[in-house]
Amino acid sequence: MDGTVNQGTCLKLSGFTAGRGVRKRTPGQLVFSQVFPKAPFSANLRSRRRELKTPSTLIIGGGIVGLATARQLLRQHPGADVTVLEKEAAPGQHQTGNNSGVLHCGLYYTPGSLKARLAVEGIREMAEFCAEHQVPHEICGKLVVATNPAEVARMEKLFERGQANGLQGIEKLNRDQMCEIEPHVGGLAALKVPQEGIVDYPAVVTALVKNIEKMGGEVITNARATGFREGSEWTVETPAGDFSADWIINCAGLHCDRVSQLAGQKRDLRIVPFRGEYFQLKPESQHLVRHLVYPVPDPAFPFLGVHFTRLIGGGIEAGPNAVLAFAREGYRKTNLNLRDLFDALTYVGLWRFALKYPKMCVNELHGSFSKKHFCKQLQKLVPDIQPSDLEPGGAGVRAQAMTPEGGLVQDFHFARGTRALHVLNAPSPAATASLAIGTEIINQLEFN
Ligand SMILES: Cc1cc2nc3c(=O)[nH]c(=O)nc-3n(C[C@H](O)[C@H](O)[C@H](O)COP(=O)(O)OP(=O)(O)OC[C@H]3O[C@@H](n4cnc5c(N)ncnc54)[C@H](O)[C@@H]3O)c2cc1C
Repeated sequence: MDGTVNQGTCLKLSGFTAGRGVRKRTPGQLVFSQVFPKAPFSANLRSRRRELKTPSTLIIGGGIVGLATARQLLRQHPGADVTVLEKEAAPGQHQTGNNSGVLHCGLYYTPGSLKARLAVEGIREMAEFCAEHQVPHEICGKLVVATNPAEVARMEKLFERGQANGLQGIEKLNRDQMCEIEPHVGGLAALKVPQEGIVDYPAVVTALVKNIEKMGGEVITNARATGFREGSEWTVETPAGDFSADWIINCAGLHCDRVSQLAGQKRDLRIVPFRGEYFQLKPESQHLVRHLVYPVPDPAFPFLGVHFTRLIGGGIEAGPNAVLAFAREGYRKTNLNLRDLFDALTYVGLWRFALKYPKMCVNELHGSFSKKHFCKQLQKLVPDIQPSDLEPGGAGVRAQAMTPEGGLVQDFHFARGTRALHVLNAPSPAATASLAIGTEIINQLEFN
């Protein structure tokens, strides 16, 4: 990945003592809000705070949420001591590096929810960040296609929801107008959502790491958090050494529930990993889709449904479906991790979920093993598409928090501990909203 990322195994990091990887700190703790006041700083205040003491923060997880949080913290509090600990050899290797690459603008989410607010704020900030750091992106707009009268009625509701979330310029299109934009799309009507876009998230990660390091933060790789000790400060044990800081922020994605438990929290929610598999349109079939083509979501089902996405680097992806993954980082059907599987199958919430949505579970599983069935779902949006137009694509695994009652936690969810914040649910559109999520996390820390 990016050559500037520090490797955990290398000990030339500033602030390390001769004792392997133990970060030295001045004793005497301060409450975060006392030293991170909310008001903007003058240059004088900044340098005074540096002279006094800057509380230090360890962020567990170098996905887009952890990196965006580090960046926002450094921007709002210049001189703050911020270190990101990432277990892999490079940041952004899991959800962030295996998603659809879409910039979601906040159309679907319940007005007033964190998701709605942070998606709307986040897409604007992300587009600005990409423009500033030369990250490839494009606001290409999308169509949400209604294929039957029931979907047309739901599309009307979606239009109202988009307006309630403050989106400008959404248009209802009839069949002819819709086909002018996407000639191969079937269906009765569509919503045109002009704000939606596509982006290169791995390039966002590279730019975030550079930005963090430029502002004096560190990203340490090969540094899986394996243990936490809480004293006057937090000490996090990793194979790259022990790291100490005043605050910890858990952004561990697929492992966030386990990391929070390691840090002494009760594990009320469980991460259930749902793999999302993609097909790609063969080069000769890519004329079938121009931009982004999505279905009208069915409120009876918890996932969005397969759709078409133009990738920023070229090509068209179709998917993702949603099937239980037998490993939290199981990108192939054959990947199995006994601990992860045991964790999922012994969770009462998962069984209750399966009883609530039996049809969906069978349907998604069928689509996972049968290209023909997967294609049938795609044909609702683009009737001309045939199995022969598709070739296997990649896969991503969603870190979806589930309640013991079998409900999928829909909104972003954070939990506070002592000088700690745990991000326990950050599903889509958290990549789009990551910069706004970072700001929200920092505000929540300052609030108390
Ligand atoms: C198939 C799919 C499609 C999606 N499409 C979109 C989309 O188009 N647009 C959008 O906005 N969102 C999309 N999302 C959602 C988006 O990708 C995620 O919400 C977002 O990437 C979450 O970022 P994260 O940093 O929380 O998690 P991650 O990217 O998973 O990062 C967590 C990091 O924590 C590290 N970690 C875990 N445990 C430890 C530990 N103990 N110690 C140190 N490090 C640790 C991991 O190695 C990882 O790098 C999609 C997700 C999936 C799976």
